[in-house]
Amino acid sequence: MIDNPDAEPLMPCDAAKTAIIVYGKQLGRKLTVCTDKHCPVHDPQAAAEAAANPAPTIAPAPEAETEEEAAERQAEFDRQRAEYEEERQRKEEERKQQFEREQAENEAEHNRRAEILKAREATFNRILEYAPAVFTAAQLRVFLRALVNLDPYTLTDDVAEHFAGDNENNQQTAEDILLSTIDGLTDDKLTSFALRLALTGYIGIPREGEFDFLTEAEAVFASPQPNKEKKPRKAPTSVKPAAKTGAIKKKVAA
Ligand SMILES: [Zn+2]
Repeated sequence: MIDNPDAEPLMPCDAAKTAIIVYGKQLGRKLTVCTDKHCPVHDPQAAAEAAANPAPTIAPAPEAETEEEAAERQAEFDRQRAEYEEERQRKEEERKQQFEREQAENEAEHNRRAEILKAREATFNRILEYAPAVFTAAQLRVFLRALVNLDPYTLTDDVAEHFAGDNENNQQTAEDILLSTIDGLTDDKLTSFALRLALTGYIGIPREGEFDFLTEAEAVFASPQPNKEKKPRKAPTSVKPAAKTGAIKKKVAA
């Protein structure tokens, strides 16, 4: 049997390698692929650059040429070729550095987003931890705003995932899981559950132009409490000892 005649043949190039398909219907089939992102045959931009800057060729020999002239012509060609090769390598190095810079930037951006997400998860947990037994009017308003903007298609699935956690072969629907969770809640945990329901969908980093309901909720639910707790703990360690040691040092010096 012949190989698929419809398959597009790959034009040969310096970076062509044979690849074997390891997944799917065409399993085991061999293909030729190009492994150079900046291949002058397969990358249009590289092709355009190569066309704009062709490799030097030796000047044609004039009709009558002395040996000396021929050697000079060859030398000139060698010089041009060396220059061309140097320039090519410089560009190659530049591209490599650009690629590495982009990689580093991507990684930094990835880490930055991971950090933000971690902070948002912490905020979410803090909001639930400090959930009051009864909402104030301001809190209820924020809660309702978050609720009406939720994506109804993923809401119960995402929240139920939290409660289903350990029980992987659970056949219950997300709604069943949530209903039985509500039935098992003590009265003082109801608002925390309500907040989980309303805010789980907002833990992710909002897209550009998207309103940040988690931050809005943080302002009315989670802000005052942690501040009250942290202040008295921090103050004695950070401010007073520094002032004291400074005073002592002065005395010793004098
Ligand atoms: Zn190629």
